[in-house]
Amino acid sequence: MKQITSGLVFGSLFLALAANAQQAAWGQCGGQGWTGATTCVSGYTCTYSSNWYSQCLPGTAAPTSSSSIPSGPTNTTSAPTTTPTSGGTELPAGTLVTGCTVPGTVAITFDDGPYQWTSALIDSLNAAGVKATFFMCGKLYGCIYDYASVVQKAYNSGHQVAAHTWSHPDLTTLSAADVTTQLTRLETAFKKILGVKPKWMRPPYGATNAATLSTLKGLGYKAVTWNLDSGDWNGNSLAQSQALFNKLGSDPKIIPLEHDALQGTAQQLGPWLITWAKSKNLKMVTLSECLGEPIPSAQYTVTGGAGTKDSTWVC
Ligand SMILES: [Zn+2]
Repeated sequence: MKQITSGLVFGSLFLALAANAQQAAWGQCGGQGWTGATTCVSGYTCTYSSNWYSQCLPGTAAPTSSSSIPSGPTNTTSAPTTTPTSGGTELPAGTLVTGCTVPGTVAITFDDGPYQWTSALIDSLNAAGVKATFFMCGKLYGCIYDYASVVQKAYNSGHQVAAHTWSHPDLTTLSAADVTTQLTRLETAFKKILGVKPKWMRPPYGATNAATLSTLKGLGYKAVTWNLDSGDWNGNSLAQSQALFNKLGSDPKIIPLEHDALQGTAQQLGPWLITWAKSKNLKMVTLSECLGEPIPSAQYTVTGGAGTKDSTWVC
């Protein structure tokens, strides 16, 4: 990967703000099939995420130290604050969903975290009294155990926590055994951190086939992709993403794709979506609520209380 590593700290901050106003400073800069620019603006570094995706991140290297991770609530076993609902029907394992069904709802989704921007995004959602769904990986931008307090904060705030595989591979390229490992390794982390196993998952790249869905069904998962791609992962500017939402009709029943692992999304697009939903009188809810499922029974299988961090909480 090519790297641009110039810029003083103040220069980087200024450039981050200036570049953000003009273009996608946090855009894609590499990955399989990528034909766009492979360098970043000054102050940003093209950082490998997976074989499919490299992203421009502020600074000279992706943060890896746990010392920069925001502190969250201490370990807790309290129940989600989402108001439980007993009505509705739980969708069966093996289901593949793309859009909401309950009129007047929108299920905003954020993928690829937890990462350093996730905690503040949750704060923004909580301050507005709205819910979202987070599709988390075990180890992609960060290690899920290093962000355990952020995972707990999302769950305890009533946001839906769901699976996005351990390391974000295209599941259609894997054997059933490897698909199983991708999900069960992440389940182990969720059980330790939250004391639940999520019932919903999103396949990386939205990629599924009959064999993948069969394996996921056997593992007890319901799968969801999206019916609106904000394009944040593909270098869309804030304005370009906003335009996609602004042209929608009055009740689009969307499950839009965003990425909390991207700074621009966590700090700008995500908070803007709260305003957008309110302006359209759409109720911003979890995935299960927008599908009319009972909450939280359709979201999670309870496996016990949250654990206490020990030497096994490592990626
Ligand atoms: Zn993803």
